[in-house]
Amino acid sequence: METRTLEWDTPMYRLAVAQLDQTAKLMGLQENLWHRLRTPQRAHVVSFPFRRDSYNVVETVFGYRVQHLTTMGPTKGGIRYALDVDLGETTALAMWMSWKCAIMNLPFGGAKGGLRIDPKSFSPAELQRITRRYTSEIIDVIGPDRDIPAPDLGTDEQIMAWIMDTYSQFKGHAVPGVVTGKPIEIGGSLGRKEATGRGVVICMVAACRHLGIPVEGARVVVQGFGNVGAVSALLAHAAGARVVAVSDVQSGIHDPRGIDLPALDRWVAEHRTVEGFPGAEPVSNADLLTLPCDVLIPAAIQGQITGANAPQLKCRLMVEGANGPTDLDADRILAQRGIMVVPDILANAGGVTVSYFEWVQSLQHFFWSEDEVNARLTQLMTKAFADVLATAQQ
Ligand code: NAD
Repeated sequence: METRTLEWDTPMYRLAVAQLDQTAKLMGLQENLWHRLRTPQRAHVVSFPFRRDSYNVVETVFGYRVQHLTTMGPTKGGIRYALDVDLGETTALAMWMSWKCAIMNLPFGGAKGGLRIDPKSFSPAELQRITRRYTSEIIDVIGPDRDIPAPDLGTDEQIMAWIMDTYSQFKGHAVPGVVTGKPIEIGGSLGRKEATGRGVVICMVAACRHLGIPVEGARVVVQGFGNVGAVSALLAHAAGARVVAVSDVQSGIHDPRGIDLPALDRWVAEHRTVEGFPGAEPVSNADLLTLPCDVLIPAAIQGQITGANAPQLKCRLMVEGANGPTDLDADRILAQRGIMVVPDILANAGGVTVSYFEWVQSLQHFFWSEDEVNARLTQLMTKAFADVLATAQQ
């Protein structure tokens, strides 16, 4: 199939297709299935006018919602607010969601959506207006039986609450099953916010055990200190590991003795960045990736580990918290160097797994305790890790 002529053809889409092609050949996937999985079933592009707080300024905003595969049940996937969001990126992320749901045995196909905006440049009132308008534009294609959004880069539980409210106004009654990752008060699940980071650390612990690395004292480096990165760092610290470096978009910090994570968490709550945390040395995001450590957790954005820096990585294990952090050249180099990689479609699948629990609870209006959520997550992630490891070894 000629991918150059496709509307969603971008470097990230090409990466997803190249991964699919490589795997399909390896597993002898029937050609008709393989080709079906290379393109999204539905791809929606919207543009709408948006009035800024300064009343005379009206901007045109671009939004996307891609549903990769509707055969497996409703589709499921996050909504991203970032300046590089486009149809190709959204399509690649939707394809990865299909594979992730398949690994976890969840009854969903993959989807993804987003707005091409910098959410940091908007006021809360503007974010509310833009989210409600975007929801109205895609209202016919989402729903608890159709397609269920969730948070991703640049979005959070407040944004999910606005999506649910806009959809519910349209229906005339509360429809909590239309989104996951929403606040607990309106039907969110206990444990959802921490679920992706929790899953990352469950995989980290299982992989360390496999490699014979003691978790107690293991040196961990985390890129990104948002939802996924911060929880991964906190839980790795709680498990006894020594988190020696973390970063956010602004800058990174490094302390070979180990960072006091609860203190850093309080610092970030106050200062909105890890930068300037007392007692730690500054480190750039590029240098952070090549620090000596046992475990590297990229948990920020895609395209961070490439053929250029993979030869310099000094970790023994990489657990992909972010989606698509590693390109194919880097994958090959890391495999040659004997560095184990727990791929994103397994390592960060804790988020969609507890989203699935939240969707089930929302549909039944019957809510589970946090211990129950965490125990079920641990059970499913542990099994998925063992299954993927066995397949990889085969
Ligand atoms: P977030 O917006 O909460 O946090 C992102 C973090 O990365 C922030 O600390 C930000 O400062 C940092 N960052 C942004 N750009 C950066 C750059 N250029 N260099 C270094 N750091 C940068 O987002 P999140 O929800 O934590 O998502 C992070 C990654 O995990 C994304 O790839 C996302 O698709 C993936 N993911 C998220 C979830 C989830 O449940 N939130 C689930 C699965 C996968």
